[in-house]
Amino acid sequence: MVGMRDTATHSPAIAVQAGLTDRIARWASRLGVKGEDEGEDAAPVRTPPGQTFSREVDRRRQLYQDIGSFLFAHDLDLTPLNFGVAHDYLTGNDHGIEKAVAAVLAERGKITNGWVESVVASATNKDVTPESLHEMLEKVEENLSQFTGLVDESRNSAKDYGVALQEQVRDLSDEAKAEPVLAKLISLTRSMVEKTRLVENQMRDSAKQTRALQQSLESARRAAEQDHLTGLPNRRAFETTLAAETLAAQAANEPISVAFCDIDHFKVVNDTHGHETGDRVLKFVSGLLAKVSNDKCHVARHGGEEFVMLFRGKTAAEACAMVDAARADLATRSLVNRSTGTRMERVTFSAGVANVLAYEDPRAALKAADRALYLAKEHGRNRVYLAAEAPL
Ligand code: GH3
Ligand code: MG
Ligand code: MG
Repeated sequence: MVGMRDTATHSPAIAVQAGLTDRIARWASRLGVKGEDEGEDAAPVRTPPGQTFSREVDRRRQLYQDIGSFLFAHDLDLTPLNFGVAHDYLTGNDHGIEKAVAAVLAERGKITNGWVESVVASATNKDVTPESLHEMLEKVEENLSQFTGLVDESRNSAKDYGVALQEQVRDLSDEAKAEPVLAKLISLTRSMVEKTRLVENQMRDSAKQTRALQQSLESARRAAEQDHLTGLPNRRAFETTLAAETLAAQAANEPISVAFCDIDHFKVVNDTHGHETGDRVLKFVSGLLAKVSNDKCHVARHGGEEFVMLFRGKTAAEACAMVDAARADLATRSLVNRSTGTRMERVTFSAGVANVLAYEDPRAALKAADRALYLAKEHGRNRVYLAAEAPL
């Protein structure tokens, strides 16, 4: 979220150049030479260590104080979360947080610890929409071209500085020209230090933005592979896992099986109890199936009221027995509609199971499991069928 560990470190390049300016200035003052940009009455040439950075340090100190004042004004606890939100609001680092804080301040004039927690939770749980992805990609592109520009700029000014230095140093051997050459060297070095400082600041900002973008992209990637309602991996994630696990199982010469599960007459649940209760039933069933999952068993929501399961190291018959145990477990539960307090009719599911390695590819195995599921439905529901293996 926030670059909290952005301590006041400076690049060795700047430190070396600042030291160089200082040293040249000392030689010059010994020789009585003045810098090019100094008038007759100017003070002796000297760049006290650290002065070059004082503006940046002042800026950070001010920000630190502002964050402190903000936290105390709103009586917020001194937590990283509150610190982060105050930072994002005051720097405009996160537009969403900035807008949310401004809105609540306009409305209530105050923010609380609880409000901060909820706004951060919703900010990090954003849905991945095509618009948000597009926006992120645009930022990545912008950041990349900014960064490339900075690198080019930095490389060019270092080159110019080197050429100019060489020119001046050539003339140093000439006694008569020593004084103006030293003055020129001081001025060149100063402007190089200044340029490098600017580039350094821009690069630090750019690196901060890149880190924030990396985090957004990472959470977008996670969200893109997760089912919003149940928290289970979605179909896309499952297909990727299935492909990888199939290869691994083949290489290890281990069995691997898939199951397709579908809640029975789920439409009736929705029609009788409403969509919200239907959602709760979906979450309940997904939790029950997820109990079976471990590092060798993956459960995902395939879509709607359908779930898929993958069993590494299990034959289709073994997987069938495990799915059937989950089916029997669900079938004995008596669920209550929380909204009305009434007992619901029994919720069951049917499933089809297939041996992945008996088919041309994992997709064909999933289709076979789906066909077995269809038969289970036809033969009365609330049952698990094993797919007939097609000869390869
Ligand atoms: P079958 O036993 O043949 O599978 O019957 P069914 O009613 O379960 O199957 P059908 O395909 O006719 O209906 C599935 C229902 O699942 C229809 C749809 O509204 C509902 N559904 C799909 N996704 C969701 C969801 O996210 N939440 C809720 N509440 N309902 C959903
Ligand atoms: Mg269905
Ligand atoms: Mg169904």
